[in-house]
Amino acid sequence: MAKFNAVCQYRGPLPPNTLLPEPRMKMQKKSDLPTRICVRCGLPFTWRKKWERVWDEVKYCSERCRRTRDGAA
Ligand SMILES: [Zn+2]
Repeated sequence: MAKFNAVCQYRGPLPPNTLLPEPRMKMQKKSDLPTRICVRCGLPFTWRKKWERVWDEVKYCSERCRRTRDGAA
């Protein structure tokens, strides 16, 4: 039964629809994009195309953080 494994280095079963993460080698140039700290959750987030016109005003990493208000919970 080991014959098949020798030919294929497939690591294990993946669902057909699984999106593989982008190759790390391509991501090394991430310093090109500006980053900012989300004022809500405190996590850094990276510039996105959709923010190109409003980047100066962007304070939250996501729509979820933007919607969350202080004292709402
Ligand atoms: Zn956030």
